[in-house]
Amino acid sequence: MEPRETVAAVGSAEAPPVHAKSRARLVDREARPRTLVKVGSATVGAGLCVIAGPCSVESEEQVLETARAVKRAGADMLRGGAFKPRTSPYDFQGLGLEGLRLLAAAGRETGLPVVTEVMDPRDVSWVAEHADLLQIGARNMQNFTLLKEVGRCPRPVLLKRGMQATLDEWLLCAEYILAEGNPNVILCERGIRTFERYTRNTLDLSAAAAVLERSHLPVIVDPTHGTGRASLVLPMSLAAVAAGAHGLMIEVHRRPAEALSDAEQALTPEQFGTLMERVRGLAAFMGAGAAEREGGR
Ligand code: PEP
Ligand code: MN
Repeated sequence: MEPRETVAAVGSAEAPPVHAKSRARLVDREARPRTLVKVGSATVGAGLCVIAGPCSVESEEQVLETARAVKRAGADMLRGGAFKPRTSPYDFQGLGLEGLRLLAAAGRETGLPVVTEVMDPRDVSWVAEHADLLQIGARNMQNFTLLKEVGRCPRPVLLKRGMQATLDEWLLCAEYILAEGNPNVILCERGIRTFERYTRNTLDLSAAAAVLERSHLPVIVDPTHGTGRASLVLPMSLAAVAAGAHGLMIEVHRRPAEALSDAEQALTPEQFGTLMERVRGLAAFMGAGAAEREGGR
């Protein structure tokens, strides 16, 4: 007897085969053509979409100055946390509603769509009034109540990979959102916990490439949390683009040393400008390669 038959035999006669592919059937690559997620003026899933901004919204001047700088450098979307999932309860927790208002205002002023994290299912509907894209953070990837709530919300969702999550667990969390009726999910690889402590996390670029094989959903990479070191953000951004990622999420602060959260990993606006030039150049080169390959078929 096949192991699968054993599972069916103990369930009902109609029990579906239990394997990962059938369980994540809505996110499966074969379920539908590649999903393009529209977020205001930006599209994720074709070309390269760069999301940039501070780890946390700290003040009106800070978020506005940063928004203007990343817009000038060519970013497609503005990020900024108003609810921060901090390891210590004594660390800066974010400005909450005031932070959301400041982020939305900076988005309007620069014309950039905004993304922010929502941590509590009870906050989803009103956070969605201030954000174009709702972020589910790594620590909440398997908060199933939260996943169901954003699944019923009309906003697109950025689902970060949990730091202890396998690829299948991550895809099944996206499945929760799609199963509730929201098809607009972007996956974000942000590094996983390994024995290595030099970097904050181990950026698993093979998982980003694997998502392209396994799912029609777009995948972006966050080399900022993935490495925890500003000096490693540029090389890993280039590597992510080379691996086929549809976008990047990068933390930028006008004065990184003064950041209220994640100071060690933020880029200055100047460093971000250099990064944009380099990744756009590589994306153009990759795009030309893809067109040649298409033409050669
Ligand atoms: C963030 O992007 O603000 C964040 C907290 O990231 P992560 O959930 O990946 O740790
Ligand atoms: Mn951060």
